[in-house]
Amino acid sequence: MEVEKVRCLIIGSGPAGYTAAIYAGRANLSPVLYEGLQPGGQLTTTTDIENFPGYPEGISGPQMMEDLRKQAERFGADIRFGIATKAHLKEGAHRITFDGKTEIEAATVIIATGATAKYLGLEDEKKYAGMGVSACATCDGFFYRKKVVAVVGGGDTACEEAIYLSGLASKVYLIVRKPFLRASKIMQERVMNSEKIEVLFETNATGLFGDNGVEGVNLVKRWGEADEERYSLPIDGFFLAIGHQPNSEIFKPYIDTDEVGYIITEGTSPRTKVPGVYAAGDVADPHYRQAITAAASGCKSAIEAERYLMEKGL
Ligand code: NDP
Repeated sequence: MEVEKVRCLIIGSGPAGYTAAIYAGRANLSPVLYEGLQPGGQLTTTTDIENFPGYPEGISGPQMMEDLRKQAERFGADIRFGIATKAHLKEGAHRITFDGKTEIEAATVIIATGATAKYLGLEDEKKYAGMGVSACATCDGFFYRKKVVAVVGGGDTACEEAIYLSGLASKVYLIVRKPFLRASKIMQERVMNSEKIEVLFETNATGLFGDNGVEGVNLVKRWGEADEERYSLPIDGFFLAIGHQPNSEIFKPYIDTDEVGYIITEGTSPRTKVPGVYAAGDVADPHYRQAITAAASGCKSAIEAERYLMEKGL
């Protein structure tokens, strides 16, 4: 099998990947970008992005990703579809396999594979997958018009999902394990001011039930305390919004990751310990995880790749 050789390979199509492609394209690196299972990344599952500078009225996630993609293409990025299934990182000739068959040899690699939604780990989440369990309100909320849903989590994502669902569903329970929300003040206020959202603090979901898809959730309030209370609520949809797992698995034998799997880079740079390999966006960012910070690290990665190629005369 002939192996295609490229100067700059970008894996991932969120704000980090597309921004890297825009910069690499403008630097004449002829970047090849692979989109994975969710072209556009997590932001395609977001409704409105209100905090990206330059959009005073906000912009929808899918629209922003479409615009970034077009901008990358305008500067010559070769955008393809494929899942990176294997990696062999070796300076000067990094090899990445896509879909188990297409092999690319790259002088520089920008890993922008993002992070994937986490689940609680309940057997019932698998049992009812696609039958009432979802980790994406904007993808699946439509099916719950005038129905009762529950969202698990107390961060910005959970609040955002609950607010989005409150525009469709008749009632939204927000299941929060702590006695407070971790979300930003503005999101907390929106949740608390919504008549349709009821926040269940200090509550954990332990299981789901139903004959034809989800019909209810089993809950425990103040789990393990003397006044622990177990009860169930009828619901039609169960949405997870409890954070994400970085998609770094295939790179772990070569580069450093923290205990969760976030790629560790050198200081504030996107450089990994393998020369010519950079990590951008959520796969390397346990702290900020914003579109703007992901885009910035994509930009830095492309600049690093350009300098590296120049120094090596590649
Ligand atoms: P976070 O990590 O901020 O929050 C995760 C939430 O899920 C926490 O409330 C956590 O509880 C809870 N949780 C985690 N594991 C479990 C579990 N096993 N059982 C029950 N609850 C659990 O993730 P987010 O996805 O909300 O946000 C990630 C980042 O993205 C943040 O920096 C956030 O600010 C940002 N973001 C910003 C948005 C915006 O600005 N518009 C929109 C969405 C996200 P606990 O608090 O107890 O740990």
